[in-house]
Order: sequence, then structure tokens, then C-alpha cells
Amino acid sequence: MSYATINPYNNEVVKEYPYATDEALQEALTTGHALYQRTKKQPIAERAKILHNVAAKLRDYSDELARTCTIDMGKLLRESEGEVELCAIIADWFADHGEDLLKPEVVDTIATGAAEIHHQATGIVMMVEPWNFPYYQIMRVFAPNFMVGNPMILKHAANTPASAQLFADIVKAAGAPDGALTNLFLSYDQVTEAIKDKRVQGVALTGSERGGTAVAEAAGKNLKKNTMELGGMDPFVVLGDANMDDVIDIAWRARLYNTGQVCTSSKRFIVMDNVYDQFVEALKDKFSKVVPGDPLDPNTSLAPMNTKRAKEKLQKQLDEAIKAGANVAYGNEPIDLPGQFFMPTILTDIDKNNPAYAEEMFGPIAAVYKVHSEAEAIELANDNPYGLGGIVFAGDEDHGAEVAAQIETGMVFVNNFMVTLPELPFGGVKLSGYGREMSHIGALAFTNEQLIVKTAKPNLDNVAGGLVATDPVPANQK
Ligand code: NAP
Repeated sequence: MSYATINPYNNEVVKEYPYATDEALQEALTTGHALYQRTKKQPIAERAKILHNVAAKLRDYSDELARTCTIDMGKLLRESEGEVELCAIIADWFADHGEDLLKPEVVDTIATGAAEIHHQATGIVMMVEPWNFPYYQIMRVFAPNFMVGNPMILKHAANTPASAQLFADIVKAAGAPDGALTNLFLSYDQVTEAIKDKRVQGVALTGSERGGTAVAEAAGKNLKKNTMELGGMDPFVVLGDANMDDVIDIAWRARLYNTGQVCTSSKRFIVMDNVYDQFVEALKDKFSKVVPGDPLDPNTSLAPMNTKRAKEKLQKQLDEAIKAGANVAYGNEPIDLPGQFFMPTILTDIDKNNPAYAEEMFGPIAAVYKVHSEAEAIELANDNPYGLGGIVFAGDEDHGAEVAAQIETGMVFVNNFMVTLPELPFGGVKLSGYGREMSHIGALAFTNEQLIVKTAKPNLDNVAGGLVATDPVPANQK
């Protein structure tokens, strides 16, 4: 698929973008590698200053960025504005904390000398990103790696080319050197070529299993370190003593935010029997109140899905779920607008043989399950091919945290909406991928943890471990 902005609100083809040439890719690799050689010697404080400038520029251009993103992929303008501000927060945080996160660690060792681990840059990172948060997904990789000194090449989704280029232009305008972030409209084959190149030392992908398996395979074949941030079917567990006002207030947002197209959207609601009917009725009520329309209009509360293809895929999944016995408690009716609108829908009575039981539905469909015990709730949360995030609502938050600890995902929030912040690690297990972005863990995703041991004078007698074992001189001959 070639790159184009097709406004999903009115299906207008706004602009098409040709694929990058192979020469452009080679130039980006050369420029990126030259930058890597230079940044190795650059004080990190200089990069912190530029990253703060990036945050400031994002805020200066917030209106243009938000509008571009909304026209590219359809999200509500206020959600786009929130995304831009989140990106600025992430940039500021890594600018403020990067030096500390990357300072050498002293190792307490019995070996003679002083041991330190230095977190060093490794080279170019190839990043492949999805359309659902066109700026935030870039920033999660860009901010930490910019501080590390790893140059980056970006291949963004085919349907968000304007957002990708604008983000890269803003990074450049903020004073980042050439090669720090090069956006290229690459084909899949060119992504593989880039991964093969010896100057590329890291590969970061956020997307589905489709993109994830292809890119991880190329990374694996070429022995390139990689992180995979993939899909999710996040459980939203409602225990019998939960505060139902809070539950309802969060539940509909957790499913409909970004038109349900979030990896950490709550996609599997697991509700205790004593509050199940109340929950389903309240969710119907909330879903029925959203107003579809132009995402640039502040009165709109239901935006279109990102593409025709995505809407058709979701409808197919819904039809198959119904065919396999699921009950439509609400929704599944057409919305009389030309854009890619999908009516919020509630499914119940999904049994284990239903395809909807094990598939991520990436749009505004809530699957609701009734359970009769906490143990059953935890089992259902974990009988899940994915393991990204989750939410637990409990009367007692400490008990909620105990339940959260039994859920096999990378992130669980108790009595709250899932939030993402630079200091919190983001990522999952199982089919949701591996590795973490952001936080102190994400800062080290593509660093070389170089051990340096300084020894004033070798003293083998003081060494109890490996050195003695490999000493070629027997003790009685010393
Ligand atoms: P996708 O199809 O896997 O696409 C993601 C990116 O991978 C796009 O840039 C895509 O390019 C590229 N891609 C796909 N196949 C490729 C290949 N063979 N070689 C090179 N690049 C390839 O994902 P999506 O369906 O658009 O995105 C939504 C998915 O992302 C959902 O499953 C969602 O849960 C997941 N997601 C995960 C996280 C997380 O942090 N865990 C965050 C957000 C979204 P094209 O656009 O050109 O196809």
C-alpha cells in the first residue's frame, strides 16, 4: 500500500506521497551513521537542550499538529491536542532525566579495580510505527534514543504520512542535527534492507502481529536487537464491591477513547454477577449518548475509524462473532454519514469457541462476560493470547492490587483509567510483544551496557572467581 492521507471523515484524498528511493534510504543510513560517530563524543547535556526545544516547538505548533493528525487518521481534535501535549511532556522528561538514567553504574565487585557499566549508543535504530497515535508512538522511541545518541530512521504507517513528516520537520526545526530522525516513506522491502544494513543496530516496532512477525523475523535473521509493542485484549475486571459510579464513568471511555483503536483499550469486560446487569445497562446508556460527526468539531464525541479497510475488517469480525452465537446487547447498526463511522456495540454471551474470544477487535466493540467468582475473573483475564494492560475495579484498592498482580499482562491499573507517562514503562507479554518503551527501562532498550573495569595493578591472589580458574600458571609454580 502506498502512502496517502485520505480523510476518514469525508473520504477525501488529501495528498499522496511517493515511496522513498533506494538512494534516499542509503543517504539516510550514511547521514545517521556519521551522526552516531559524532554524538559518541558529544556531552549529553547538549542533546537535553535540543530535546527541550523539541518539546517547546511541539507546543508552539500544537494546533497544526493536532489538525494534521485528525485529518490523517480521524481522531477527535481534542484527543489530537492531548497527544501533542503528551509528546511534549515525554520530551521534557527525557531531557530532564536522560543524563541521570544514562550515567555509568558502579558495580560492587570482588574483582580488583573499579567496575562500571556504561550505557552507550549503539547506532541507528529503525523504527516502524502505527497510525493510531501518530506522534506519541514516534516520541516513545525518539526521546530516549535521542538522549542515548542513537540516530533514527522512521517508517510510519501508510495512512499517516503528513503527521510523520510534520513531526520530523519539527524535530529538525528544534535544532536536532541531520540524521537524528529521518522520516522515509519506505516499502516493506526497504524496511528489510535497512534492518540488514550493518549500521542499523536496533529495531523498534509498534503494531499488530502482522507487522510484528514480519519485522521481528527480519531483525532475528540479521541478529538485530528489537522491541515489539503489539496488540492487546485488555481485561477490565469489575469485582462485586466496586464503586459502580466510577466503573461506569471509566468503562465507556476505556473502550471508546480514540474510537476504540488503542492497544490498551479495555476489550474484555469481566463483570461479577451481582453487578453485571447494572453494568450492561449503564454501558448501553453511555454508548447511546455519543455523537458521531466531524472530528474537528468540538461537539463531536464519536470520531470515524481510521480507514475503510479497518472498518470493514471490524464489521467482518463482528459478523463472525454473531454467527458463532454472540448476542448483540447494543449497536451494530449503520451510521448515516459518508465517513468510516462504526456504531459502538456491546457483545455478550461469547463462548470460548467464538473467534471473538481470542481476537483483538480494534474498534468500538465491547465484549462483556459475566463471572461468579474472583478466581473465575482472574482465569478469564488470563485465558487470553495477549498480555498488554488491564484495569481492575475493587472496593478496596489494596485487594484490587492483589488481583492485579495475578493478571498476566505488562501493566495493570487499579480503580482508574490506564494512563501513559514517560516515567512508566510501557509494554506487554505473550502476543503483545516484548521489551519496554519509556521509563528507565525504555531508556536502555538500545544501549550497549559496556563493562569497564579499571585495575591499577593486576593482583591475581585477590581474585576468587573466573580469573583464577583460567590462570595458566599452576599455584605451586608461582
Ligand atoms: P500493522 O499493520 O502491524 O502496522 C504497523 C506498522 O508496521 C505500520 O507502519 C505498517 O506499515 C508496518 N508494517 C506492516 N507490515 C510490515 C512489513 N511486512 N514490513 C515492514 N513494515 C510493516 O498495525 P496496525 O494494525 O496498523 O496497528 C494497530 C495495531 O497496533 C493494533 O494491533 C494495536 O493493538 C497495536 N498497537 C500496539 C501498541 C503497543 O504499544 N503495544 C500501541 C499502539 C498500537 P503500513 O501502514 O505501510 O502497512
